[in-house]
Amino acid sequence: MALIVQKYGGTSVGTTERIKNVAKRIARFKKEGHQLVVVVSAMTGETNRLIGLAKEIQTTPDPRELDVVVSTGEQVTIGLLSMALMEQGVKARSYTGQQVRILTDNSHTKARILKIDEDSIRQDLDDGHVVVVAGFQGVDEAGNITTLGRGGSDTTGVALAAALRADECQIYTDVDGVYTTDPRIVPEARKLDRITFEEMLEMASLGSKVLQIRSVEFAGKYKVKLRVLSSFQEDGEGTLITVEEDSSMEQPIISGIAFNRDEAKLTVLGVPDRPGIAYQILGPIADANLDVDMIIQNVGYDGTTDFSFTVNRSEFDNARAVLEQVKTHIGAREVVGDKSICKVSAVGVGMRSHPGVASRMFRTLAEEGINIQMISTSEIKISVVLDEKYLELAVRVLHKAFELDQVS
Ligand code: ADP
Ligand code: ASP
Ligand code: MG
Repeated sequence: MALIVQKYGGTSVGTTERIKNVAKRIARFKKEGHQLVVVVSAMTGETNRLIGLAKEIQTTPDPRELDVVVSTGEQVTIGLLSMALMEQGVKARSYTGQQVRILTDNSHTKARILKIDEDSIRQDLDDGHVVVVAGFQGVDEAGNITTLGRGGSDTTGVALAAALRADECQIYTDVDGVYTTDPRIVPEARKLDRITFEEMLEMASLGSKVLQIRSVEFAGKYKVKLRVLSSFQEDGEGTLITVEEDSSMEQPIISGIAFNRDEAKLTVLGVPDRPGIAYQILGPIADANLDVDMIIQNVGYDGTTDFSFTVNRSEFDNARAVLEQVKTHIGAREVVGDKSICKVSAVGVGMRSHPGVASRMFRTLAEEGINIQMISTSEIKISVVLDEKYLELAVRVLHKAFELDQVS
């Protein structure tokens, strides 16, 4: 008998018919004698619909009230799935995040899990129930409902698996594992049998939304056995996220191509080139709680320099407003911005021991006439910022150039 945490995403519970199918799958695991905690997302499209409603009332919804609204999506699915399980003759009980007591900090819409009370879940499991928990939500110390950021149900699943010391955490979604890139963009993308935490963390943080980044962080930290699988297929091993690099096989240099359309670029032109200027620009941005990703500063030869960085697209207007004030303060010439950019990244632990990845990447983009606006690298990734119109082409040609479409 194993204790398994399963998480089903929005598409997997998108209709009552699909919820019934999920219940059948869970019933099969139960029959095999396993204990099950099941985390579900809201039905597909529901979270977007709820955010849309909130925005019809307030252009920038109050974060506390927004969490009250969007957390209702998951409350519907836990109730429906529990009913469907009962119809399968399986004992089931649903819990909201607040009822479990998934304690979070108070950063509404992007809260972090601090602690999980597992007593009532353990009790129910011992009594033979399947425990169904609402993903994406928690409660802060003061009793306010919080949510964990888009895609947050993955993190609920992994955090529960860590707290319960589950044997495995299975993330069921609409693809049968983690691919070399998003299979919706590149049909030739290949499913990976295994990927290291390190690589998965980079892929997730660089835009591969198949797993929320915090869920991967949690799994790595608490050594949760994590697997991504399809809820639409009967069998299949999915993709295992592993701690170790697989030494029995020749590592591919690149494991995957990730991309992100959610960024925007800001440039301060004609910045006086003197010590402390980066701090004078980015200090106020940090004070406004805005996250900065890539940064580029050119060496100035005429006493001035240009300073560019990227932010999340939803924070573009706020960042620009901050920069307009900074500009006057530091005596810069102009602030310009570009919302139609994208970031494309090649990720792979094999990069450490293989030089020449960057040049192959740049050559491939050059051959397609794609201009690179910004570059950043780490030990296991190379990212470039491009005009958004080149996103799909760039992902496709890089996927091919690194031979990710070929079975290794
Ligand atoms: P869920 O609703 O189940 O949480 P998501 O939409 O959040 O599902 O994540 C699954 C989707 O992630 C897939 O449909 C796929 O389009 C996308 N995706 C992006 N990058 C990858 C990748 N490298 N491997 C697999 N899927 C990916
Ligand atoms: N329903 C939430 C969202 O759409 C959480 C999740 O699906 O993981 O982001
Ligand atoms: Mg998701």
